[in-house]
Amino acid sequence: MAKKIVAGNWKMNKNLQEGIELAQSLNEALAADKPNCDVVICTPFIHLAKVSDIINHDIINLGAENCADKASGAYTGEVSAEMVKSTGAEYVILGHSERREYYNETPEILKEKVDLALANGLKILFCIGESLEQREANEQNAVVKAELEGSVFHLTAEQFANIVIAYEPIWAIGTGKTATAEQAEEIHAYIRSVVAAKYGEEVAANTSILYGGSCKASNAPELFAKPNIDGGLIGGASLKVDDFKGIIDAWK
Ligand code: PEP
Repeated sequence: MAKKIVAGNWKMNKNLQEGIELAQSLNEALAADKPNCDVVICTPFIHLAKVSDIINHDIINLGAENCADKASGAYTGEVSAEMVKSTGAEYVILGHSERREYYNETPEILKEKVDLALANGLKILFCIGESLEQREANEQNAVVKAELEGSVFHLTAEQFANIVIAYEPIWAIGTGKTATAEQAEEIHAYIRSVVAAKYGEEVAANTSILYGGSCKASNAPELFAKPNIDGGLIGGASLKVDDFKGIIDAWK
């Protein structure tokens, strides 16, 4: 069975003090009312070490939002997978559409990042998803398949066990437009079938496939009730404890 996961992506929000406060409040709320799923918060690099010390890692896992495509050396401003791991983080988000679009991260670059993240013992929240134009042209299945083939399907089955897939239709990210539960379930089932064709049914059944895109407490229960939706990757609604916990509680 695939693990149920609710993961937050803070993006470029919260200064250090605000981030610490948010992590502390979430930690208290979840210690008092234990979640029925794995919870991950992915923060900007500057928060990682402090937040790692604050949270109970048995309840909340920590992740970065990116890592470098090089191992170490003269790459000014970059943060390596090894550095991320050394903070106490367990996860890294790779392939987010904002990084693909604004920072020109190609499938080849992502493949390098994937390999370095795994070599350093990080699990990966690997994002895939189509644009509105691609959805309107009914190309969504081809797009997500190509994104998997381009950056993670070179992995062995053993390595692939460390990949969590986040299906995030670009037209639903931060727009308030959510894919309907039926639309999401349809493509999640397709993604699982693509994983099964590559790695077999057992690996596919054990792969967590999260939905992302304007997921909130009000629509999470309907989305998470679908058999192929194993949780969510949450942007905006991960920035307030009540909103994020409302989504986590959808697993109760
Ligand atoms: C995201 O960017 O990963 C995301 C899902 O954002 P939002 O929840 O704000 O749409």
